[in-house]
Amino acid sequence: MSIPFYKHSLTADDSQYIAKVLDTPFLTSAGVGKEVEALIANYFGVSSALLVNSWTNGAIATLLALDLQPGDEVIVPAQTFIATANVVELLGAIPVFVDVCEDSLLIDYNAIKNAITEKTKGVIVVHLYGQMCDLDELYDYLKKRSIWLLEDAAHCFEGTRRGRRPGACSDAAIFSFYATKNITCGEGGAIITNNAALAEEIRKTRLHGMSAGASDRFSRKKYNHWDMQRLGTKANLPDILAALLPAQISRVEENLEKRRLLAARYRQFFAERGVRYQKIFENVISAEHLFPIWVPVEYRDQCIYLLNEAGIQVAVNYRSVPSTKYYSEKYGYVEDDFPVSQRWGEGTITLPLYPKLTLAEQDEVMSALDRALMTLGM
Ligand SMILES: *Cc1c(COP(=O)(O)O)cnc(C)c1O
Repeated sequence: MSIPFYKHSLTADDSQYIAKVLDTPFLTSAGVGKEVEALIANYFGVSSALLVNSWTNGAIATLLALDLQPGDEVIVPAQTFIATANVVELLGAIPVFVDVCEDSLLIDYNAIKNAITEKTKGVIVVHLYGQMCDLDELYDYLKKRSIWLLEDAAHCFEGTRRGRRPGACSDAAIFSFYATKNITCGEGGAIITNNAALAEEIRKTRLHGMSAGASDRFSRKKYNHWDMQRLGTKANLPDILAALLPAQISRVEENLEKRRLLAARYRQFFAERGVRYQKIFENVISAEHLFPIWVPVEYRDQCIYLLNEAGIQVAVNYRSVPSTKYYSEKYGYVEDDFPVSQRWGEGTITLPLYPKLTLAEQDEVMSALDRALMTLGM
C-alpha cells in the first residue's frame, strides 16, 4: 500500500466553477472574489475579509499597511513555518524569535513579555497544527503598549478556542489556501479584520498601492482613472482560483469531523504507546491540520526511512526556524537559545491526516509505525 502525505478534497465537479469564470472578461480579481470575501467575513463574523494570492504575500501587504519600518522588531515563535519570520525579514524589520511551551507547542506568553523592547511594533502568534492560541489577555496587554497583534492562522480556518474563531481578538488574522492546507485553491490566502481603516489600507497594499483594481477601472462605461496612493505589493487572488473556495467552505464542518475522528484515533494509539504529540487544551476545537508525533532525536530519521520504505509519506513540521542556516548565521543563534522548539524540531514526524484518508489506510500507517518502533527498539 502506498499512502500519500496529503490529498486535497476537490472533485471533478469543482471544475464547473472554473468554467464559469472563463465566461467573464477578467480572470483576475473581480466579482467572484468579492462574493468569497463576503462569505469568509460572514463565517468569521468580522467586518472585512480580503483574498490574497498566498499567506506570505497577504502578510507582506498587512505589514506594509501597518507601516512596518526597517529596524522595527516583530516577535514570532521559533516553532513555525519559516514564512512567519520571513515576511518580517523581507521588509527589513527584525523577527525576534521566542520559544514555545513544552506541551502545547504554542508561543510562550512570558517569553513574549520578556522580549518586548522599545523597538517592538508587533507580535505574530501561530495557531500551530490547528490549535488556537488564547488571545484575549495577550491582546489587551499588547494594546496598552501600542503593539499590534497578528494571527498566523494558516493552520486554523475551522478551529475555535472558548468558542471563538480567529479574527475576534487581534488586529488581523491571515489564512493560507496553499496546496496542503485544509482549504486550498493551489495557492491563495485571506486576511480578516474588524479594523475597517486597516482593511482599507490592505486593499491598496495588496494591489501595488493603487486606488482601483482592473474590474473597478472598467466597471462603468467610461474608463476610471486610478492613482498610486502608497507603496504596495501584488497580492490579489485571481477569480479563477477564488472560484474553488465556496464549495470547500460549505463542506468545512463535514471535513473537520473526518479530521477529528482520524486525529482522535491517532491520539489513542500514541497515548497507549507513550509517544508524544501536541497537547490540546480543553477549551479548544483544533482544526486538526497536521498530526505530528515526536520520537527521540537519534531515531527520527531512521523512523522516517522505515515509514517511507513501507510506502508511507511523512513530513517534518518544523525544524526550529532560528536553527536554519540563514537565521542562525545572520543573528548568531546557537543551539540552546530556543530549547523546546529545537528539541521538538529534531524529533518530530508528521503523519498523513486528511478527510480522504480511510480508516484502513490510517491503520496501515499505525501498524507501520509499530513495526518501525519495534525495529528501532523503542
Ligand atoms: C503554509 C504556511 C504559511 C505560508 O503560507 P503560503 O500561503 O504558502 O504563503 C505561513 N505560516 C504557516 C504556519 C504555514 O503553515
